[in-house]
Amino acid sequence: MLESLTQKKHDETRQGEALAPALTEPTGFRKRFYIESYGCAMNFADSEVVASILNKEGFGATRDVEQADLIFVNTCSIREKAEQTVRKRLTEFRKLKKSKPGTLVGVLGCMAERLKSKFLEEEKLVDIVVGPDAYRSLPALVDEAESGQKAINVLLSRDETYADISPIRLNSNGISAFVSIMRGCNNMCSFCVVPFTRGRERSRDADSIIRECRELFENGYREVTLLGQNVDSYYYVPGDTKHTGGNVQAVTFAKLLEQVALVSPLLRVRFSTSHPKDITDEVLFTMARHENICNNIHLPVQSGSSRILQLMNRTYTREWYIKKIDRIREILPGCGISSDIITGFCSETEEEHQETLSIMEYAKYDYSYMFFYSERPGTLAQRRYKDDIPEDIKKRRLTEIVNRQNRLSLESNRNDLGKIFKVLIEGPSKKSDSDWMGRTSENKVMIFPKQHFNYSAGDYAYVKTLTCTQGTLLGEIVNDVVMA
Ligand code: SAM
Ligand code: SF4
Repeated sequence: MLESLTQKKHDETRQGEALAPALTEPTGFRKRFYIESYGCAMNFADSEVVASILNKEGFGATRDVEQADLIFVNTCSIREKAEQTVRKRLTEFRKLKKSKPGTLVGVLGCMAERLKSKFLEEEKLVDIVVGPDAYRSLPALVDEAESGQKAINVLLSRDETYADISPIRLNSNGISAFVSIMRGCNNMCSFCVVPFTRGRERSRDADSIIRECRELFENGYREVTLLGQNVDSYYYVPGDTKHTGGNVQAVTFAKLLEQVALVSPLLRVRFSTSHPKDITDEVLFTMARHENICNNIHLPVQSGSSRILQLMNRTYTREWYIKKIDRIREILPGCGISSDIITGFCSETEEEHQETLSIMEYAKYDYSYMFFYSERPGTLAQRRYKDDIPEDIKKRRLTEIVNRQNRLSLESNRNDLGKIFKVLIEGPSKKSDSDWMGRTSENKVMIFPKQHFNYSAGDYAYVKTLTCTQGTLLGEIVNDVVMA
């Protein structure tokens, strides 16, 4: 369990979740599909696009795998362990298939892209293999597989963004939703498989993003998280210049953020992930101008050592990253900052590991996603460097990093004692129906008693922090408060 220890962000706790709409769908579908998702939030958002494509063709989602005619696994390749988990699942599905002939099993996403036809040829575990840019061809591939052929489409695209597809919200709390704003990545961090599995970076039509956010708001949603591997390099140039007299206005991430924030002051806006090299002052000042853009930045450092950062091809140094943290704190006082950290990268020394611990201390991350390095086939690091840190050392360093983060998270929460936060209520707390669970703008979870107040999920409440654990603030509603 040490490989990935995380605290708050829902995507990591949702691994392997079976997705289906909260409401029972009407019957009358010609087939039922079951979809299980792994990996990052982008994958969970993609599963909602897949559901929409399949729905149009008469397929309805089910959360019960035994009921399904089609079983899909939306996969992740980021670390070896993620792939192992999926393989294990596919073996289980093969058994199920034997007891229910005619059931089709499909692999979607990054692993499909990485292993391509190997899935069909060597492993014989699946019938359908579809890469992240080929979901529109799923219905045709299902037809092909139904006729007994093996069906595959792993073509990557330079322009597919699924902009016109309204995702079907699966397992949603009805309050917060992911909205993909771009796909792919051009960064080529040496450890990372994403540029190979998700292709070149492309930005989605800004109007379609704003339309989707507006529709979500009109349907009762109160929080959108704009998603991309590197959101700060979002750049969209409208193709149609007829209506602007040939005057093309490019939309940068800061502009997009502003436009989404203007949908309604009641709609909270979050975004993930920011690459430290790309987040601009313009984005920070836009966040400062709009109260509904959440005071929270996920700014993965990966390592605190400039030498390792160079080997990772992250294109910034320790000093540069520190200056970025200073700038965020200057423009956005109190901003929540979180990170991703990889320990035990090729040739990392004890001193360099200490530098990671010390940069965590400097940045005072509220939470981090922490991993030990997992060599991925085909990446720059796999081709150039030796994965030479023994596993026991990787694990020991990861434990030290996790312990440090746990202390920082607790300190960060203790600093919030006595403070009043505007909390978006997401629903009843898991532990008690008489408590609400919500989040602060800084992305901290707040639990508080409902008391006699008449709040509902989707409302904002002002809550004073009374006590805390490392992962949660506990408070009570203050109804006569004026925030600064
Ligand atoms: N695009 C984002 C970024 O640049 O921060 C996140 C991409 S990735 C889906 C999420 C995280 O997985 C990375 O930030 C990194 O910490 C981790 N990761 C990626 N490749 C890894 C590898 N080979 N071994 C261990 N962790 C890895
Ligand atoms: Fe991978 Fe780096 Fe792109 Fe993030 S920015 S997806 S870590 S290559």
